[in-house]
Amino acid sequence: MTSKLPFEIATTSVGDLPTPEPDSPYRPRRPYRFSTLCATVENPGLKDQYGSSSVPIYQTATFKGIGGEYDYSRSGNPTRSHLEHHIAKISSAAHGFAVSSGMAALDTILRLLKPGDAIVAGDDLYGGTNRLLAYLRTHAGITVHHADTTKPDTLIPLLKTENNVAMVLLESPTNPLLKIVDIATIAKEVKERVPAALVVVDNTMMSPFLQRPLEHGADIVYDSATKYLSGHHDLMAGIITCNRDDVAKQIAFIINATGNGLTPFDSFLLLRGSKTLAIRLNQQSSTSMLVARYLHSLGFPTFYPGLPDHPNREMHERISSGYGAVLSFATGSRDISERIVAATRLWSVSVSFGCVNSLISMPCAMSHASIPPATRAARGLPEDLIRLCVGIEDSADLLDDLERALIDAGAIRRTAAGLVRVQTSIGEAVQKLAEKEAAKDEIPPHEKPWVVSAPGKVILFGEHAVVYGVPALAASLSLRCYAISTPRADDTLGVHFLDIDVGQPDGFKYEWDLSELPWDAVPSQPSSGEGEVALNHQFLDTITSQVLTDISNAHARQASLAFLYLYMVLAAHSGQRPALTLAARATLPVGAGLGSSASFSVCTSTSLLFVFGRIRVPSQSLPVTPSTSSASSSSSAPTSKLPDTLAQCVNRYAFLLEKILHGTPSGVDNSVAVFGGGLQYTKGQGGGLEAIDGFKALRFLLTDTRVPRNTRSLVAGVAERLAKDPNGVGAILEQIREVVGRARRTLGEEGDGTAVLADLIDENHAHLVDLGVSHPSLEDVRDVTRTYGLATKLTGAGGGGCAVTLVPDDFSESSLSSVITTLREKGYVPYLTQVGGPGLGVLVSQGSFALPMTPPEPPACGIENSDGLSEGALTGLFAQQSKPELGSWIDSLGNWAFV
Ligand code: PLP
Repeated sequence: MTSKLPFEIATTSVGDLPTPEPDSPYRPRRPYRFSTLCATVENPGLKDQYGSSSVPIYQTATFKGIGGEYDYSRSGNPTRSHLEHHIAKISSAAHGFAVSSGMAALDTILRLLKPGDAIVAGDDLYGGTNRLLAYLRTHAGITVHHADTTKPDTLIPLLKTENNVAMVLLESPTNPLLKIVDIATIAKEVKERVPAALVVVDNTMMSPFLQRPLEHGADIVYDSATKYLSGHHDLMAGIITCNRDDVAKQIAFIINATGNGLTPFDSFLLLRGSKTLAIRLNQQSSTSMLVARYLHSLGFPTFYPGLPDHPNREMHERISSGYGAVLSFATGSRDISERIVAATRLWSVSVSFGCVNSLISMPCAMSHASIPPATRAARGLPEDLIRLCVGIEDSADLLDDLERALIDAGAIRRTAAGLVRVQTSIGEAVQKLAEKEAAKDEIPPHEKPWVVSAPGKVILFGEHAVVYGVPALAASLSLRCYAISTPRADDTLGVHFLDIDVGQPDGFKYEWDLSELPWDAVPSQPSSGEGEVALNHQFLDTITSQVLTDISNAHARQASLAFLYLYMVLAAHSGQRPALTLAARATLPVGAGLGSSASFSVCTSTSLLFVFGRIRVPSQSLPVTPSTSSASSSSSAPTSKLPDTLAQCVNRYAFLLEKILHGTPSGVDNSVAVFGGGLQYTKGQGGGLEAIDGFKALRFLLTDTRVPRNTRSLVAGVAERLAKDPNGVGAILEQIREVVGRARRTLGEEGDGTAVLADLIDENHAHLVDLGVSHPSLEDVRDVTRTYGLATKLTGAGGGGCAVTLVPDDFSESSLSSVITTLREKGYVPYLTQVGGPGLGVLVSQGSFALPMTPPEPPACGIENSDGLSEGALTGLFAQQSKPELGSWIDSLGNWAFV
């Protein structure tokens, strides 16, 4: 494979940058080209006393004497000055600055703003940039407007002086979808509409070699020099360039004031790396073009501005002199993408880019994992996207390694006609799914197995105060309950509740002869009002006294009662008595106040409503998000969306079962288990449930202290305090209301609100302590996590003795495992979980689905039913999985549709 240059970038000249003196009048010298400028480090104003050909490292903090050019390295250092001069030269800038990282560069620039100023920024920026902007919004009074900067029309309405726009922040191309922003047009519009605003460009993806935004109207440009400018992933640095003297003066002031200037040693390394920028990036860009063309020719959706079908190729060519060395492509299946990434040898799996070595990554699982899945979907970021950052290795080796990985992963195969892509596009998968579902409709629903799942819930803010009308915030957990209902052929109704401890290794099992159930006692179908979902206490008593007499375990009796009640009502009203076994099991701790009974109620009612044909999976379902049904799940099958009408129907029946299990449920737990995400609940008239829009998935450590606590007496204790001290306790309740309000706003807002949430968690917990509902073991969990800088609060009214600890995305994995180990050593049971994920899920396609995924385990024993899944075998396998594996095993059976 020959590597032909995409275009003549090697000879690009830079503005009117210097040529050596003296110039001959007869044959004037032309300005030096970029590679020459890169390789030649000169600083006429700063000659070395010994004429060293490499800039020395002035490894000193201070300089002797008074009035000299340098006094203290925070303010200035000769090695850094050389670097800054060089960077300014190759960026066609009047001023250059070197700081400790790309983020430090942005931080320096953002310090030019003052409270009340507004910044208009892209909506597809580097994640760290979003994080810093969100921080400034909450801590520095800066308004941040996000706009689609790839469409200047969406940004222009914001460019108004009355909006106090002081800065416009752009990035082009974006990472990892390589979308192009028309820097020149936007800069022109900004200058016309808000002349005082500064146009700032993050130029990391291009480096000054391929794009120099100052030449296109930008006021300030910065790069993460950790990437191409240094080129070897051996240092962190950021550079800032500008032409305006006033801006440069302020930047120099901020760098000196904050002390984030680059160290002498790193300045030396960066200067050395930058000398080879042109030659490296030339090679990297040309190989990138080959790789992009190769993937494109195989039919993978490929994102690279150099491809002829890139929507803004021409716009990019107007402002840049090359296409860069980052590209991305989608495979149609996250599973396949994971296998490709795992199969490459030369392309190593790593975050970042710009290094001489080639890198491969899946942004949704790595660099962009901190962005909530819903936001990623809204930004059109495919979950199966693979990003390639091309290095300087031989292009033939890189292509060879990639090709092998694509074959090994099943993404392409060899045919007589050559290599062809194995078609796995989501559109085709959905088509096949619809066909399969349509074919299945010929089988009556009670002859099919049904696999369903629902999340547990956690109260994040407002427990106890909720009793007095303060809103409470609840959210779904990635710990879930799963139920499998399988048809049988022996006129028997069976239950298998694996988590109910009756002294047997696999939980509680029971069977009833269908003909012996008290069918005469089933209430006739009411014609109006609440109908079937109104609880008939007389029928409940009949089941308890006639059917459940020999079940002594209270949990097993209640769960069986709920199941039998609904089964018999639905059977009597439909005229059918299908034989089946319902098995239920949870990854969620049972009885820990985390909504396990509600998720059981949702799973049981959903299974039965499917069996009796009361609800059905729509034959056409649109894929929306990847499976997130279990925290540990690696499954990536496309999932579909269940309609809201189905969810509402299930929720009514689940509430009925909650009443059987609990007496007077609030309705929060079953609603979270059905709808997922985050909900605000307010008790009483005018209250009710409200979804928290924009709720982002957050990581929490959930610790079950296993200290039995009595919710009823804790609630009564607060009531007693309130009666004794209405003013004092009333004030605490109002403070909790305030915390809940702030938490709701933060949870619904874009950007990283982790720090704010951590403060609110501490605050809410302190109020709960004042209400007298904490416990020494909960305080102990708080003490353990606090030593790692984590915020913890008790959760729920106290019944389960559980605590929740917010785990920020950037919390180190090693600290996390030591927190977990310490908690375990103290006898607590910690669970790492994601909060705010999907609600009710139904496995819509079982068995080996069209996608080339690992087929399900063949049934070990039992009778095959029409779907290839056998009753005994399926339930047996369900029971055999270890708890941590349960979610991913179920995921591997097929594809989920979620509410
Ligand atoms: N800007 C972009 C586009 C980046 O990709 C990165 C880092 O990945 C940064 C800024 C931040 O740079 P640094 O990691 O050097 O702080």
